[in-house]
Amino acid sequence: MKILLFFLLPLFLTAQTITLQILGSGGPEFSKRASSSYIVWVDGKAKALVDAGGGAFTRFAEAEAKIEDLNFIALTHLHIDHAADLPAFMKAGFFSERTAALPILGTTAAGKFPNIEVYLKRLFGKNGAYAYMDDILTKQSDSFQIVPHMFDQGFNSRNYGDIIVGMAGVNHGSIPAIAYCLSIGGKKILFAGDTSAQSEKLTMLADEVDYLVVHHAIAEHAGHYAKKLHVTPTRIGEVAGKAGVKNLVLSHRMKRTYDSEEESLELIRKNYKGNIIWAEDLMKIKVQ
Ligand SMILES: [Zn+2]
Repeated sequence: MKILLFFLLPLFLTAQTITLQILGSGGPEFSKRASSSYIVWVDGKAKALVDAGGGAFTRFAEAEAKIEDLNFIALTHLHIDHAADLPAFMKAGFFSERTAALPILGTTAAGKFPNIEVYLKRLFGKNGAYAYMDDILTKQSDSFQIVPHMFDQGFNSRNYGDIIVGMAGVNHGSIPAIAYCLSIGGKKILFAGDTSAQSEKLTMLADEVDYLVVHHAIAEHAGHYAKKLHVTPTRIGEVAGKAGVKNLVLSHRMKRTYDSEEESLELIRKNYKGNIIWAEDLMKIKVQ
C-alpha cells in the first residue's frame, strides 16, 4: 500500500481541477442571457476568458473571477455580441491589482472588420474612442498593458502559461472568425464561436475534445443567409460525431430558436451519441 501511494502521490499533486463556466449563453438580442462569453478555471483561478459580449463584464464579477488571474482574453470575432464589453474589462482592470501585460487574441482583418491590433487602437489609441486610456497599449500603462496577439485563418498554436491554445479560422460568412481549443493538463475544450462549420477545419480541431462549445443560433429550417453564418443542428451532430467529441455544450441561445430546441436535439442525436448540455449563464461544468 505504501509503495502504491508513493507512486500515486505525484499524480494527485499535479492533477489540476478544470472548470468550464458559461458567462453568457445568449446572442445579440435583448434577453436575460448575457451575450457570448466563457471562463476556463484552473485550480480555482480564472485563467482564460473567451469572448466578451454584452453582459460578460457583470457576469465575470458575479462568477467572482479576477482579472489578475487571466493568462489571456481570446475573441473569436469582432461582432458586438462577442466583443463589446472588452473596454469595460479594461477600465475595471485599472481598479485591480493586475500589473502583468494581458494578451488579447484575435483575428486578421477582412472587409469591414479590423484586425485585433487595429481594433484595440480604434478603442484605446491616440485617436481612439477611449483615447483617455491610451496608455493601456503601452508599457507605461497606469494599470497593465494590453497586447494584441493576431492569428491568421490557418492552424496555429501558442502557449499561455499552462494552457496550450490551438486555433484555426472557421467560416462565419465573410467575417474573420477563429475557433480556440484550450488544452490544460490533458483535457481539451474547444470554443467554436459563431460558425457555419462548412469546412472541415472545425471537425479537425474538435478531434476527441472533452468539450465542444458550439453555438445553436439557428434552427434547421433557418433561411439561406442565416445558414451562411451559423451551423445547423444536423451539422453540429455531424461534426461532433465525426470528431468523437465527448461532451457538447449548446450556447448562443436565441429567442428564435427556443421553440425548436427539442427538434434540434433530435437532429443532433442522429449523428452524435455523446453528452449534450444546454448552456445557461453562470453554469459551471467540471471538466473531468
Ligand atoms: Zn454571435
